[in-house]
Amino acid sequence: MSNEVDVDGFPPAPTCSTCGAVLEPEPIASAIRVVVAYACPVHGVDSVLDPFGDSPVT
Ligand SMILES: [Zn+2]
Repeated sequence: MSNEVDVDGFPPAPTCSTCGAVLEPEPIASAIRVVVAYACPVHGVDSVLDPFGDSPVT
C-alpha cells in the first residue's frame, strides 16, 4: 500500500511509505518558488509538495 497524497490539499499526517514514520516537513526555497519536502529521518525525502500550487510536485 502506498501513501496517497490528496491532489486538493495536504495530507493530515504524511508518513513514510517505506517504514511508516511521520515525515518532517522541510521548506525548500528555490529561485522560482517555495516547496515543502516531507522527509523521513531514515529514508530521506519521501514526497515534495508545492503549497502554492494545486498538485504535488514529483
Ligand atoms: Zn522511512
